[in-house]
Amino acid sequence: MDIIDAHMHFSNITRFINTAKSISKVDYSGKGLKNEFLKSKVSMGIGMGVTELSEKTFPDSNSSNPMKLDLEDNIPENIKCCLGINPFSLNKQALEDIENELQQDHVVGFKIYPGYYQIEVYDQLYEPLYKLAQDYDLPVIIHSGDTYSFRGYFEYSHPLKINKLAIEHPEVNYVIAHMGNPWLMDAALVLSNNTNVYADLAGLIVGDSKKISALSDQQVFVENIQRALIYDDKVYQKILYGSDWPLVPIKPYINFIKKLVPKQYHKDVFYNNALRLFNLR
Ligand SMILES: [Zn+2]
Repeated sequence: MDIIDAHMHFSNITRFINTAKSISKVDYSGKGLKNEFLKSKVSMGIGMGVTELSEKTFPDSNSSNPMKLDLEDNIPENIKCCLGINPFSLNKQALEDIENELQQDHVVGFKIYPGYYQIEVYDQLYEPLYKLAQDYDLPVIIHSGDTYSFRGYFEYSHPLKINKLAIEHPEVNYVIAHMGNPWLMDAALVLSNNTNVYADLAGLIVGDSKKISALSDQQVFVENIQRALIYDDKVYQKILYGSDWPLVPIKPYINFIKKLVPKQYHKDVFYNNALRLFNLR
Protein backbone atom coordinates (compact mmCIF):
# COMPACT_ATOMS: atom_id res chain seq x y z
CA MET A 1 0.00 0.00 0.00
CA ASP A 2 1.28 3.43 -0.98
CA ILE A 3 1.27 5.85 1.96
CA ILE A 4 1.23 9.64 2.37
CA ASP A 5 2.47 10.96 5.72
CA ALA A 6 0.19 13.98 6.16
CA HIS A 7 1.97 15.46 9.18
CA MET A 8 5.73 15.33 9.75
CA HIS A 9 8.59 17.74 10.38
CA PHE A 10 11.80 18.74 8.66
CA SER A 11 12.78 21.85 10.60
CA ASN A 12 15.82 22.81 12.60
CA ILE A 13 14.12 22.77 16.01
CA THR A 14 16.22 22.00 19.11
CA ARG A 15 13.48 19.97 20.80
CA PHE A 16 12.93 17.81 17.69
CA ILE A 17 16.67 17.17 17.37
CA ASN A 18 16.95 16.20 21.05
CA THR A 19 13.85 14.00 20.90
CA ALA A 20 15.15 12.20 17.82
CA LYS A 21 18.46 11.55 19.54
CA SER A 22 17.33 10.39 22.96
CA ILE A 23 13.61 9.54 22.92
CA SER A 24 12.38 8.31 19.54
CA LYS A 25 15.87 7.23 18.40
CA VAL A 26 15.52 8.16 14.75
CA ASP A 27 18.06 9.60 12.34
CA TYR A 28 16.57 13.11 11.90
CA SER A 29 18.11 13.94 8.52
CA GLY A 30 17.22 13.72 4.84
CA LYS A 31 19.11 10.44 4.67
CA GLY A 32 17.34 9.04 7.72
CA LEU A 33 13.96 10.06 6.37
CA LYS A 34 14.65 8.48 2.99
CA ASN A 35 15.53 5.19 4.68
CA GLU A 36 12.42 5.18 6.85
CA PHE A 37 10.14 6.12 3.94
CA LEU A 38 11.60 3.32 1.79
CA LYS A 39 11.15 0.74 4.54
CA SER A 40 7.51 1.75 5.05
CA LYS A 41 6.46 2.44 1.43
CA VAL A 42 5.75 6.11 2.20
CA SER A 43 5.88 7.99 -1.09
CA MET A 44 5.27 11.51 0.18
CA GLY A 45 5.43 13.55 3.37
CA ILE A 46 3.72 16.83 4.27
CA GLY A 47 6.12 18.90 6.38
CA MET A 48 4.67 21.40 8.84
CA GLY A 49 6.51 24.71 8.43
CA VAL A 50 8.05 25.93 11.67
CA THR A 51 11.24 27.74 12.63
CA GLU A 52 13.03 28.92 15.75
CA LEU A 53 15.55 31.73 15.91
CA SER A 54 16.60 31.14 19.49
CA GLU A 55 17.12 27.71 20.96
CA LYS A 56 14.20 26.06 22.75
CA THR A 57 11.65 28.60 21.51
CA PHE A 58 9.36 27.15 18.94
CA PRO A 59 7.39 28.26 17.16
CA ASP A 60 9.34 31.48 17.65
CA SER A 61 7.46 34.78 18.15
CA ASN A 62 10.22 36.46 16.16
CA SER A 63 10.19 34.06 13.20
CA SER A 64 9.41 35.73 9.91
CA ASN A 65 6.48 34.66 7.74
CA PRO A 66 6.06 32.19 6.26
CA MET A 67 7.86 29.58 8.37
CA LYS A 68 9.22 26.82 6.18
CA LEU A 69 11.28 23.61 6.39
CA ASP A 70 14.90 24.36 7.23
CA LEU A 71 16.53 21.20 8.60
CA GLU A 72 18.84 20.96 5.57
CA ASP A 73 19.65 23.17 2.58
CA ASN A 74 18.07 20.67 0.22
CA ILE A 75 14.56 19.56 1.04
CA PRO A 76 13.84 16.04 -0.29
CA GLU A 77 11.68 16.22 -3.42
CA ASN A 78 8.86 14.13 -1.98
CA ILE A 79 8.44 16.45 1.02
CA LYS A 80 5.71 19.06 0.53
CA CYS A 81 5.17 21.98 2.88
CA CYS A 82 2.38 23.64 4.83
CA LEU A 83 3.58 27.19 5.41
CA GLY A 84 3.80 27.96 9.12
CA ILE A 85 2.25 31.26 10.17
CA ASN A 86 3.44 33.58 12.92
CA PRO A 87 0.34 35.62 13.83
CA PHE A 88 2.42 38.30 15.59
CA SER A 89 3.87 39.50 12.31
CA LEU A 90 1.05 38.75 9.88
CA ASN A 91 1.23 42.22 8.32
CA LYS A 92 0.75 43.34 4.72
CA GLN A 93 4.32 42.51 3.73
CA ALA A 94 4.09 39.06 5.33
CA LEU A 95 0.85 38.32 3.45
CA GLU A 96 2.55 39.28 0.20
CA ASP A 97 5.50 37.04 1.00
CA ILE A 98 3.13 34.19 1.86
CA GLU A 99 1.19 34.63 -1.37
CA ASN A 100 4.42 34.68 -3.40
CA GLU A 101 5.43 31.40 -1.78
CA LEU A 102 2.16 29.83 -2.94
CA GLN A 103 3.48 29.87 -6.50
CA GLN A 104 5.86 27.06 -5.47
CA ASP A 105 4.64 23.59 -6.37
CA HIS A 106 5.67 22.05 -3.07
CA VAL A 107 3.43 24.36 -1.00
CA VAL A 108 0.20 22.49 -0.23
CA GLY A 109 -1.34 24.27 2.78
CA PHE A 110 -0.91 26.40 5.89
CA LYS A 111 -0.16 25.56 9.51
CA ILE A 112 -1.17 27.68 12.48
CA TYR A 113 -0.17 27.19 16.10
CA PRO A 114 -2.74 28.17 18.73
CA GLY A 115 -1.60 26.79 22.09
CA TYR A 116 1.86 28.12 21.32
CA TYR A 117 0.93 31.60 20.10
CA GLN A 118 -1.88 32.87 22.29
CA ILE A 119 -4.28 33.87 19.53
CA GLU A 120 -7.72 32.34 18.97
CA VAL A 121 -8.15 30.52 15.65
CA TYR A 122 -11.13 32.75 14.83
CA ASP A 123 -9.29 36.01 15.65
CA GLN A 124 -9.79 38.67 12.97
CA LEU A 125 -6.07 38.80 12.30
CA TYR A 126 -6.24 35.40 10.59
CA GLU A 127 -8.97 36.53 8.16
CA PRO A 128 -6.58 37.44 5.30
CA LEU A 129 -4.93 34.05 5.67
CA TYR A 130 -8.24 32.19 5.47
CA LYS A 131 -9.08 34.27 2.38
CA LEU A 132 -5.85 33.04 0.78
CA ALA A 133 -6.71 29.47 1.79
CA GLN A 134 -10.09 29.82 0.10
CA ASP A 135 -8.77 31.52 -3.05
CA TYR A 136 -6.00 28.96 -3.56
CA ASP A 137 -7.99 25.97 -2.28
CA LEU A 138 -5.40 25.08 0.36
CA PRO A 139 -6.23 23.47 3.72
CA VAL A 140 -5.29 25.08 7.04
CA ILE A 141 -3.77 22.65 9.52
CA ILE A 142 -4.42 23.73 13.11
CA HIS A 143 -2.23 22.54 15.92
CA SER A 144 -4.70 21.18 18.48
CA GLY A 145 -4.55 19.60 21.91
CA ASP A 146 -1.38 19.14 23.93
CA THR A 147 1.69 21.13 22.90
CA TYR A 148 5.24 19.91 22.47
CA SER A 149 6.79 22.82 24.30
CA PHE A 150 7.39 23.79 27.88
CA ARG A 151 4.62 26.39 27.89
CA GLY A 152 1.31 25.17 26.49
CA TYR A 153 -1.62 27.56 26.39
CA PHE A 154 -4.26 24.87 26.03
CA GLU A 155 -7.14 27.35 26.25
CA TYR A 156 -6.27 28.22 22.66
CA SER A 157 -5.65 24.72 21.33
CA HIS A 158 -8.95 23.04 22.21
CA PRO A 159 -10.58 21.49 19.11
CA LEU A 160 -13.99 23.00 20.00
CA LYS A 161 -12.55 26.38 18.98
CA ILE A 162 -12.49 25.05 15.40
CA ASN A 163 -16.26 24.50 15.32
CA LYS A 164 -17.11 28.21 15.15
CA LEU A 165 -14.28 28.79 12.68
CA ALA A 166 -15.44 26.01 10.35
CA ILE A 167 -19.07 27.16 10.44
CA GLU A 168 -18.07 30.72 9.59
CA HIS A 169 -15.73 29.61 6.77
CA PRO A 170 -17.55 26.80 4.96
CA GLU A 171 -15.33 27.21 1.89
CA VAL A 172 -12.09 26.54 3.77
CA ASN A 173 -10.90 23.07 4.77
CA TYR A 174 -9.41 22.75 8.25
CA VAL A 175 -7.44 19.90 9.79
CA ILE A 176 -7.50 19.27 13.55
CA ALA A 177 -3.91 18.13 14.06
CA HIS A 178 -3.39 15.23 16.48
CA MET A 179 -7.20 14.92 16.47
CA GLY A 180 -7.01 17.38 19.37
CA ASN A 181 -5.45 14.76 21.67
CA PRO A 182 -6.36 14.34 24.53
CA TRP A 183 -9.71 15.95 23.56
CA LEU A 184 -10.41 13.25 20.97
CA MET A 185 -14.17 13.06 21.57
CA ASP A 186 -14.50 16.82 21.29
CA ALA A 187 -12.65 16.67 17.99
CA ALA A 188 -14.96 13.85 16.83
CA LEU A 189 -17.97 16.08 17.47
CA VAL A 190 -16.46 18.96 15.47
CA LEU A 191 -15.64 16.56 12.60
CA SER A 192 -19.17 15.26 12.64
CA ASN A 193 -20.69 18.75 12.60
CA ASN A 194 -18.59 20.16 9.73
CA THR A 195 -17.93 18.62 6.31
CA ASN A 196 -14.94 20.97 5.93
CA VAL A 197 -13.11 19.68 9.02
CA TYR A 198 -10.56 16.83 8.87
CA ALA A 199 -8.23 15.38 11.50
CA ASP A 200 -4.79 13.83 11.44
CA LEU A 201 -3.57 11.08 13.76
CA ALA A 202 0.00 12.35 14.11
CA GLY A 203 1.80 12.39 17.43
CA LEU A 204 -0.62 10.31 19.50
CA ILE A 205 2.54 8.69 20.85
CA VAL A 206 6.00 10.19 21.27
CA GLY A 207 8.72 7.60 21.70
CA ASP A 208 10.71 4.74 20.24
CA SER A 209 9.45 1.48 18.78
CA LYS A 210 9.40 -0.12 22.24
CA LYS A 211 7.10 2.53 23.63
CA ILE A 212 4.82 2.31 20.57
CA SER A 213 4.47 -1.43 20.92
CA ALA A 214 3.84 -1.19 24.69
CA LEU A 215 1.04 1.35 24.20
CA SER A 216 -0.39 -0.58 21.23
CA ASP A 217 -0.85 -3.50 23.60
CA GLN A 218 -2.70 -1.44 26.18
CA GLN A 219 -6.35 -1.97 25.47
CA VAL A 220 -7.53 1.16 27.28
CA PHE A 221 -5.11 3.34 25.31
CA VAL A 222 -6.20 1.92 21.95
CA GLU A 223 -9.90 1.90 22.75
CA ASN A 224 -9.85 5.49 23.97
CA ILE A 225 -8.81 6.57 20.44
CA GLN A 226 -11.16 4.12 18.71
CA ARG A 227 -14.04 5.47 20.76
CA ALA A 228 -13.58 8.84 19.04
CA LEU A 229 -13.12 7.27 15.61
CA ILE A 230 -16.48 5.47 15.76
CA TYR A 231 -18.44 8.51 16.93
CA ASP A 232 -19.54 9.19 13.34
CA ASP A 233 -19.47 6.45 10.72
CA LYS A 234 -18.43 8.88 7.97
CA VAL A 235 -15.33 10.01 9.83
CA TYR A 236 -12.90 7.74 7.95
CA GLN A 237 -13.33 9.88 4.84
CA LYS A 238 -11.74 12.72 6.80
CA ILE A 239 -9.05 11.06 8.90
CA LEU A 240 -5.44 11.36 7.76
CA TYR A 241 -2.47 9.27 8.72
CA GLY A 242 0.48 11.35 9.94
CA SER A 243 3.47 10.42 12.09
CA ASP A 244 4.81 13.68 13.57
CA TRP A 245 8.28 12.34 12.65
CA PRO A 246 10.90 12.69 14.16
CA LEU A 247 8.90 12.21 17.36
CA VAL A 248 8.35 8.53 16.47
CA PRO A 249 10.00 6.05 14.07
CA ILE A 250 7.71 5.74 11.04
CA LYS A 251 7.23 2.02 10.51
CA PRO A 252 6.13 1.13 14.06
CA TYR A 253 3.79 4.14 14.07
CA ILE A 254 2.16 3.02 10.80
CA ASN A 255 1.56 -0.38 12.37
CA PHE A 256 -0.01 1.28 15.41
CA ILE A 257 -2.42 3.32 13.24
CA LYS A 258 -3.24 0.19 11.19
CA LYS A 259 -4.31 -1.42 14.43
CA LEU A 260 -6.59 1.51 15.31
CA VAL A 261 -8.35 1.82 11.96
CA PRO A 262 -10.52 -0.95 10.45
CA LYS A 263 -8.85 -2.50 7.43
CA GLN A 264 -11.49 -1.42 4.91
CA TYR A 265 -10.55 2.22 5.59
CA HIS A 266 -6.76 1.89 5.37
CA LYS A 267 -6.53 3.07 1.77
CA ASP A 268 -8.51 6.22 2.60
CA VAL A 269 -6.74 7.05 5.86
CA PHE A 270 -3.21 6.31 4.63
CA TYR A 271 -3.52 7.72 1.12
CA ASN A 272 -6.75 8.80 -0.61
CA ASN A 273 -7.91 11.40 1.91
CA ALA A 274 -4.57 13.25 1.86
CA LEU A 275 -4.38 13.07 -1.93
CA ARG A 276 -7.78 14.72 -2.21
CA LEU A 277 -7.42 17.28 0.59
CA PHE A 278 -3.97 18.53 -0.48
CA ASN A 279 -4.72 18.30 -4.22
CA LEU A 280 -1.70 16.04 -4.71
CA ARG A 281 -1.00 13.90 -7.75
ZN1 LIG B 1 3.72 18.18 14.42
